[in-house]
Amino acid sequence: MNLRKLLQHIEVAQWKKRTIPQLKGPILTRKMLQDMPLPKDGYTVQTSGSTGIPVTVKRSALSGLWYQATNIREALWHKRILSETFAVIRPNIFKEIYEPSWGPAFSLIGKTGPVYGRPVKGDLNEWLQKIQPGYLFTYPSILQTIDLDKLTNLKGIKTTGETLNYFHPLIADMYSTEETGTIAIQCPDNHEVYHVMENIIVEIVDENDAPAECGRVIVTDLSSRYLHRYDIGDYAEMGECHCGRGLQTIKRILGRKRNMVTLPDGSRHWPLVGSRAYRDVAPVRRYQAVQIDAKTIELRLEVDSALNSEQEQKITKMLQKAILYPFDVKIVYVDSFPVGKFEEFINLYDVEKERAATV
Ligand SMILES: [Zn+2]
Repeated sequence: MNLRKLLQHIEVAQWKKRTIPQLKGPILTRKMLQDMPLPKDGYTVQTSGSTGIPVTVKRSALSGLWYQATNIREALWHKRILSETFAVIRPNIFKEIYEPSWGPAFSLIGKTGPVYGRPVKGDLNEWLQKIQPGYLFTYPSILQTIDLDKLTNLKGIKTTGETLNYFHPLIADMYSTEETGTIAIQCPDNHEVYHVMENIIVEIVDENDAPAECGRVIVTDLSSRYLHRYDIGDYAEMGECHCGRGLQTIKRILGRKRNMVTLPDGSRHWPLVGSRAYRDVAPVRRYQAVQIDAKTIELRLEVDSALNSEQEQKITKMLQKAILYPFDVKIVYVDSFPVGKFEEFINLYDVEKERAATV
């Protein structure tokens, strides 16, 4: 199998009804994966450990091929204009980069424009306004700090790496993990759903591991010899689409359990923590909300300059409104956030309670 053949194959296969076999065997937890001996072949990928359990996995050469093919598919589905400039802002870029093309693999579909990349540091808006890219590729939480109105040439935004919990007409999201590569791509004809790639099988299960409409995402990577029924840690809902593609469909990736807020009455939901609107009232570069007890949210802010009390009050109100409960909000200033997958909301209160219960 080479990339050209794989692309030709999936171009046709996507329109055929995919039959999903009944999968058997135990569910592979992150803890089990951590303890498993690694195969000798393939390339090593280390995950950043946003769940607190870092793992090392081996991706096969075939998995690498699928990664390239699905990135090209993403460009084809969303009808990217190949001659445009791509700007990439991601935490795993450590210095400014320039590449004359979107990558060697893209030469299979045509001649592309250049890529400018940079780390999540400094004035991203100034940098983007100078480049005026056709496309922007970044994490949803970083995107919220970008003033899109000033990017006059922008034709599309590619996001990945975190749960996307807001809609923007230019955004096309990819659901991927470091362990598996691309799991699903947002449907180009229906922004409400994602289609699962042909090398991946997604199962959604409830607390008793029984099939469910909404629940934990269990992923089998057919291009891996051992990522079989892997509990990836996310929650999602099964979906349907009428675009004609025969691929598996999932709706709304809800995020992780530890990204749910617990209200004093015991109910839980995945909160919409905030939006770019924070930047309209104060020079907030990035933010993270952390539930530390039943009534308190710590709002961590990375800012260009210190906020006055009026700005702090405004932001507190915005957060309380978004989270659907008037929590006590404690604002804490940070110099920067750790590199890697970013979580906009973390429930440490629940994590602590669970830890206490298992000790
Ligand atoms: Zn569709």
